[in-house]
Amino acid sequence: MHGMNTKATHVRKAGPAGRWEGVERLAYKRDGDAPFRDVTRQVLFDAVGGASQWRYFEVAPGGHTTLERHQHTHAVMVLRGRGRCLLGDRIYPLGPHDLVDVPAATWHQFRPEGDEPLGFLCLVAQDRDRPELPDPAALAGLRALPGVAAFLDS
Ligand code: MN
Repeated sequence: MHGMNTKATHVRKAGPAGRWEGVERLAYKRDGDAPFRDVTRQVLFDAVGGASQWRYFEVAPGGHTTLERHQHTHAVMVLRGRGRCLLGDRIYPLGPHDLVDVPAATWHQFRPEGDEPLGFLCLVAQDRDRPELPDPAALAGLRALPGVAAFLDS
């Protein structure tokens, strides 16, 4: 493989779980109009030959990621905390090292449980479409599914 890829990437853990050397943590303030709440994002590096990007998200207790869907896909691994995710028409429990693959055009949202942040790695394509938020009819359809209204209101 020599000569193929001369750009090696090695990023060291820095301090507590969920921090890396030289990686800026982008914090989003709580905002009533924002579709997410209490989420930080770290862009780790471009991966898979530049086709994809590793990110790390942390959601504080009481927060949540955006309820959205899009054509691009996510591969997720939980690194810390516990929580649940909505994926399609079901709610799944989440804990450290659990893996989630979010298919195309599938509604998804991540929520922590307990008093520790929910932190997860997310691998995503560099070339990605803009997320779609649910309109009122789509939201009503989701809320009619078993357990989903309670999840969204938790
Ligand atoms: Mn997404």
